[in-house]
Parts: sequence; C-alpha cells; structure tokens
Amino acid sequence: MRRQFLRNLCPDMVKKSVVDVNLEELREAGYDAIIFDLDNTLVGWRAKTVPQDVTRWLERAGDLGFKMCIVSNSLVRRVTKFSELLGIPAIPKAIKPMQRPFLRALHILNAHPQKVVVIGDQVFTDVLGGNRLGSFTILVRPVDKREFFTTILFRTAEKLVLFRLRKKGMLKDFFTKKEKC
Ligand SMILES: [Mg+2]
Repeated sequence: MRRQFLRNLCPDMVKKSVVDVNLEELREAGYDAIIFDLDNTLVGWRAKTVPQDVTRWLERAGDLGFKMCIVSNSLVRRVTKFSELLGIPAIPKAIKPMQRPFLRALHILNAHPQKVVVIGDQVFTDVLGGNRLGSFTILVRPVDKREFFTTILFRTAEKLVLFRLRKKGMLKDFFTKKEKC
C-alpha cells in the first residue's frame, strides 16, 4: 500500500469509545467543532436510544463550547430522529467518504476544517473523509458487533489497513495535535 494512501486512512487517535475522548484536551488544543458518525459511534446499530454516558458526554461537549454535527450514511428517518433527540444538526445519506457532506457540515457549523474533530468507527468512511478534509480524526471501536452487510465487507480491508498502520508505528492512541503519521 502506498504511504500517502495509508496516511489518509490513518486516524490521529484511536479510542475505545467516544466517552473516552478527552474533550478538555481537544478544547485546549484549539478544536472547536466535532463531526460525528451516528451508527456504531454514538449509538449501537439499530439502537433506538442513546446510551446515558454518551448523552452526558455530548452535554459536556456542548458546555465546553463545541459546535456539533452528525454526518451519517444512514437513512433520513433514523438520522433525523437522533438529531432531534440530541438537539444536534445532522446530514443523513451522506455517502461518506465523499467530501460534499463534510463540507456541508462545515458550513452548518461555521467551522474551519483544521479546528474540527471527526469521530467515527470506520476507516474507509469517517477517517478517510475527515483526513481528506484536513481535520483531526478519531477512530472508535464499533458500539455493536452487528452491522450492515456492506460494512462487514469493508471490515476485512479495514483490519488489514489497521494491521499495516500498527506495524509501521503510524497508529497513535495518545494525543498529538495534527502531527500526521
Ligand atoms: Mg458508523
């Protein structure tokens, strides 16, 4: 795999869950907006509610002054429901890693891409999209083991990429401000 290609797939940080992301640290580093994936990042696949610890974490993000937006490849109905529930704007049917939905999110947030953190559970959609944007990317482990059929197909390739990144020492699970691999 070419190094530039790998670089675009490399998250700046890896965390077990969004609630493990240190919001204060990000704020101190100058980030002021967060773009979230929805399914398997904030909520479990097909879940109808938001876990309490995630809700609390999102509230803290709001208190710290983070502007937030959900960018999801899921359908309008599901994404809108969570958007209303959480009071966070959302872009459904995003077709990540395409740039357009991310650019729309930047517009909604009135944010500069380099001050944005993109958090998601997939390398080929969330991390790739966020890196191409020039934002700080955080990969989290999927909330649920069950997933869309197409996602399951991508997971094998994802495992290979993560293996290569780890082997090359490019994967970081600690905080470094946009110091790309
Ligand atoms: Mg996801």
